[in-house]
This record gives sequence, structure tokens and C-alpha cells, in this order.
Amino acid sequence: MADFETPELKEYPVIPHLQEGVMAHSKPFVAKEEFQESLGFPGELVDNWEQVALDKMQELTGKYRGFQVFLDSCVKCGACTDKCHYYLGTSDPKNMPVARQDLLRKVYRRNFTFAGKYFPKLVGAVDLTKEVLDDWYSYFHQCSQCRRCSVYCPYGIDTAEISMAAREIMDCVGVGQKYCNEIIGKVYKIGNNLGLPQPALVDTLEGLEEEVEEDIGVKVRFPVDEKGAEILVVTPSADFFAEPHVDGLIGYAKVFHEAGISWTLSSYASEAANFGMFIGSYENMRKVSLRIREAALDLGVKRIVMGECGHAWRVAYSFLNTLAGPFDFLDPNYPVPQHILEFTHDLIQRGALTMDKSANDDMVLTYHDSCNVARASRMGSKPGGQFTIPRDVIRASCNHFYDMPQDTIHEATYCCGGGGGLLTDDLMELRVKGALPRMEALKQVVEEHGVTHMAAICAICKSQFSKVLPYYGFTMDSIVSVHQLVSNAIVVGSKQ
Ligand code: SF4
Ligand code: SF4
Repeated sequence: MADFETPELKEYPVIPHLQEGVMAHSKPFVAKEEFQESLGFPGELVDNWEQVALDKMQELTGKYRGFQVFLDSCVKCGACTDKCHYYLGTSDPKNMPVARQDLLRKVYRRNFTFAGKYFPKLVGAVDLTKEVLDDWYSYFHQCSQCRRCSVYCPYGIDTAEISMAAREIMDCVGVGQKYCNEIIGKVYKIGNNLGLPQPALVDTLEGLEEEVEEDIGVKVRFPVDEKGAEILVVTPSADFFAEPHVDGLIGYAKVFHEAGISWTLSSYASEAANFGMFIGSYENMRKVSLRIREAALDLGVKRIVMGECGHAWRVAYSFLNTLAGPFDFLDPNYPVPQHILEFTHDLIQRGALTMDKSANDDMVLTYHDSCNVARASRMGSKPGGQFTIPRDVIRASCNHFYDMPQDTIHEATYCCGGGGGLLTDDLMELRVKGALPRMEALKQVVEEHGVTHMAAICAICKSQFSKVLPYYGFTMDSIVSVHQLVSNAIVVGSKQ
């Protein structure tokens, strides 16, 4: 199955012995010229790349105050060293968050601090060489920007910000990552990560309509490009066809049907994912975000609801208004944007949906908090809503639910191992090894409570788990969408 060894699942997490350089070979394919240029980056390594990189670093420290503070304030206390799933799964010391930061920090010190300029050895400052650049390419693509380390850092240093900046610098010298940059190009050209054109999308949605009608005997609509609809739903394109994502989309449609609210998808903004964040490029993030604004204006909707996608929710929650706002043309009575879980949760709380929990009695569930939802956004009006709202909806949809150990959920959640633009087959070893801490936590509830399925609300987590669960002896279909549970439990037609 693979040319690497899958780590052994231990009863309790064990901090591994260091294995220097053991993951130095792991790097994603470099983006070809065409993918670089469509995003406004040079097609290949530019001649004076050292200077271009340093100029960009200086620009970023000036532009993003947090970035410079993070580079200046680490005291090497070590609190973050054992908090990264990639270190725990690979044993490579450069996957310790502080060591990952230092790959960039030592170049920053050499060029932008007094001590680094005059006493480089004393402060661990180094020149930017091709060897350093190669290390950046390798290890900044072994960070899923999950922010778990920042929770444990007494200074709140966020390695994700440093890894985003590093990737932006690399893009600017002509060494971008194929997976992310090719996908962003597809969004510009076609509207979604998959390159699914409008006719194929319409076809898929018609097929779903027929499938659901056959299944429950009720016509539940999956509208696309419908002008004048109340709600525009922007969801990850994986929801249009892949298991278990599509079962979630069916869940959204049934919820809208029961609520009696008109909604539509857009073929122009047929993607919630925004990989501009993964490459640290606010310019590309803005261009992708603007498509949502344009679609909302064109269709004349009053609200925007985001589907189940972790980083898309982070971008939407934290940046949509500043990148693509103001949204003063939408109904001011609703938040912009809203999450599909907030929408469904509200209906459940008001008793507007009839739920038959026994429809999910063939499953014993647990829930994986996705990093970008848990540590970079919120839901609802109360602090911690991003933890309680999904769990409330799951509990309203099934009879058997158990949380994984406390130090692996909520803000301490472990990344699935495929976030941050790393969900590509050329990084399979990293993805499998990085999933280790989550797999150990899952094993614990499987053994203690007989858990059979893990629910998630992120397209990347769902895809990643479908792929890596079998490496650890679980079946690939033990990952489910939260709205898949809603879809099974909701009694369609009961409120009409
Ligand atoms: S942000 Fe996540 S992946 Fe990156 S170093 Fe920190 S814990 Fe590791
Ligand atoms: S926890 Fe924070 S201050 Fe301590 S070593 Fe890690 S990044 Fe530096």
C-alpha cells in the first residue's frame, strides 16, 4: 500500500525520540510555470531570488504586525515542542513548531536584527542559501497551519502565520506548490477546485434530486443559479459528488425544504474553499472571495450560508467582510456569512424540524473538531459556539454519541493531517503519519464506547480521513458528514 511504515497506534500518546532529517525528503510537487503565472507569481526561481525573498520578508513584517511580533518574541521555552501532530507522527525535530519557525526566524535575524547582523553565531542567525530555501520548501509544507501549537505557547506565537508568510515568499521567488496553485487557477477559470463546469454541476444536482425523490418519495430541490432566492449557499465542491460529502449536501437541501426557505447554489461561486489562505496570499484570497460577492449580487439573494468546510469557514468568518464587503445589500437581520450548522441548529432549537434519532441507530458516533473552525473562528452568539453547536446538532440527530479524550478536542483538537493545502497524494506519507494523534484518540473511544463512526464538518478532514483511516485498520466509510446524520434523521414533510 505504501513505501513507508504506518506508525503504531499506542494506548497513550508517546513523545517520540528525535530522528534528525527523517522527513527532509517530503516535499510536494513544485508548481509549473502556467500555474504560477495565472496567480501573478514568477514561473520559476528568479535569478536574484535571495534579494526578492528578503524584500518580501521585509514587506510582510511591515504589513502584518503579528508576523514580526511572532518572529521577535519566542523565548525557546519549549512548551510547543510536543504539540504538533507532524512531530508526534514523524519524530523529525524540524516538525517541532519552534524549530519550524526558526527556519525562517534565523534568516530574519541575520538580515533584520542588530544581533543577527553583527553576532550571527551567538543568536543562531544564518544567510539565506539554496539549502535553507530547500528546507523551507520541505518543512513549511509539513505544517497544516492548524494553530494547535499557538494554544500552548505562552506568547501565543502562531506558527501558521509564519508558514503562510514563508509560502508567500516562496511563491514570490517562483517556487510555489503545484496542488494549491493549480487549484486556485481552476477557481478563477471555472469557479471551483474540481474544474466542474456549469452544465456538469446542473446535471449532478438534477441527478441528486431524482435520487432523493426515489429514496423518500418527496421532491427536494437542489437549485442552481436561481435568481431571487432568499439564500445563496456556498459549499465545497466535494459536496457535489464525493462520499461522504454529498450526503451532507442532501442534508442541507432537506433542511431548507423543511424550513420552507428558497435557496440556490451558484455555478460562478461553486466553491467555498479558498486556497489563497494556505499560500498566505491575501490578494488571491480576496479574488476568490469576491466571486461570492458577485454571485450574491447577481442572484439578488438576501443571505449567504456556508456549507461544511473548515478553512472556508475561517476565511468567511474572519475575512469575508473585509476582503469582499460591505454586504450592505443583504438582509441585516442575519449574520454575514452564516454557517449551515448555525442555520440548522436554530431550526432544531425552535422545534421547526422533526428529527427521528433512531434513523442513525446503526452508528455510535464521535466528533472531530476541525482546526480552522475550532481555533480560528466561532459559531453562534456565545463563546465556544463552534464546539457546542455541532455537538448539539449531532445529539439531536442520533442516540449514541461519545467525545474523544478532552486533550484532543475543542481548542486542543488535533489536525486530521491533511489541512493547510497538504491534501495531495505526493504528501501521502506525511498525511498518514500526521493523522496518528487523531487515530489514537479515535481508537480510545472505539475501545471504550464501541464508537463506529466519526463525524466532521470539513471537506478536507472528510477526504483525508477517507484516505488514511484504512492505514490504521479502520474502514474508510467510518467518516461521516454532520449533515449526513441530519439527512438520515430529519422527517421530511412532517411540518407541512
Ligand atoms: S500550526 Fe499545526 S501543523 Fe503547524 S507547527 Fe503548529 S501544530 Fe504543527
Ligand atoms: S511555546 Fe512559544 S515561546 Fe515557547 S518555544 Fe514555542 S514558540 Fe517559542
